[in-house]
Amino acid sequence: MWGFSVPSWCRKNRYCVVKSLFDIVLKSIDTINHSIDKLLNAIDKIHHAIDTALIFFKKKEPNQPRSNTTCYERSNSMIIKPLSYPLALKQLEAIQKRLPPEHPKAEKVNQQLMMKSAGYKGEKNLEYPLSFLDSDTYSIFFDLRLFDGKHHFQMDALILSSSFIVILEVKNIAGTLYFDTGFNQLIRTYNNTQESFPDPLIQIKRQEAQFTIWCKQQSIPEIPIHSFVVISSPKTILTASPDQPPPHHSVIPNLMVHKKILELTNKFSDNLILAHELHQVGLKLLANHSSAKVNMLQTMQIEKYEIQPGVICDHCRFLPLEYVRRQGWKCSRCSKYTIDGAQKALRDYGLIINRRISTKDAKLFLKTNSGPLVRSLFKSMDLYPVGRSRSYQYVIPHA
Ligand SMILES: [Zn+2]
Repeated sequence: MWGFSVPSWCRKNRYCVVKSLFDIVLKSIDTINHSIDKLLNAIDKIHHAIDTALIFFKKKEPNQPRSNTTCYERSNSMIIKPLSYPLALKQLEAIQKRLPPEHPKAEKVNQQLMMKSAGYKGEKNLEYPLSFLDSDTYSIFFDLRLFDGKHHFQMDALILSSSFIVILEVKNIAGTLYFDTGFNQLIRTYNNTQESFPDPLIQIKRQEAQFTIWCKQQSIPEIPIHSFVVISSPKTILTASPDQPPPHHSVIPNLMVHKKILELTNKFSDNLILAHELHQVGLKLLANHSSAKVNMLQTMQIEKYEIQPGVICDHCRFLPLEYVRRQGWKCSRCSKYTIDGAQKALRDYGLIINRRISTKDAKLFLKTNSGPLVRSLFKSMDLYPVGRSRSYQYVIPHA
């Protein structure tokens, strides 16, 4: 099974046989550990799918006569896959606080952080207009990432109904936006500076094409798919060239999203998918979603040794803090104590360096010599051990 056989020349050599058996046991343990890791990841995924599926099944049957008057009653229960705080944003925040301000990559980290943060705020703003939609008619999925057989593609929001599907791509860009449909560029003017962005209209058409392929692969009944670019900030000014076809049928301000969905509902009123098929589509969307795994240090071209270890002061951001027995983590700069500082530091380690941490690495990162202190921290965080008994590692959740 392991591709191993005892050599003929040492069959009678007891030491050789025992050593070989020992090697087999070690290989088996490694294989089991690997499988446990995979199993834990699968369990995480199943938990998430069950939680969201439960919300999905609580929804009423969709094949009921629609009433547009009820569409203005606010309800959040139709959000099947809620918007969550992006992992990339958590990783950048952890890197930012542990990188010296004079570091050559500090500015790049700050810019990425601002960009990702604006993107998240844009998606967060979308929750409000979507909350006006009838929860019995529409199911909403935020940040779905699917695979079309060749490439992964991510959609900021997907709205599923029995008559159509809508894909939304949110842009939270301040200033004046000029849609150059001739050169397929989005040009932003802000503070007298012009900046070019990839054309979001091309982006949504590509997402729509990839999602159509995915639906065929999943044998989902044919249903009209519409995609729109949502401009998140009401202060953003939209412009386009008079010589080119106007993009306004595909670009909508955030607060007009629910109105656009209602227009589509009136236009496409036939129920093309039955209730049980709609549930199956929803479950397929959830089951096929996979989060992107990003090594942010690698992306930002920062080495591990450049990350400053130690517990950070909650009051003045100084690091490293020193552990004072029975009192906690004390700052030598402001003399204040930081509660949960070590737990926060370990979570930073999980986000930046590695989700797995040994007692030895934790001592190095927290800058402490106390093994019992580290073990009590692991216990307080409910971290479970994996690996061999003499080299246990603990898995830090990305919560
Ligand atoms: Zn301090």
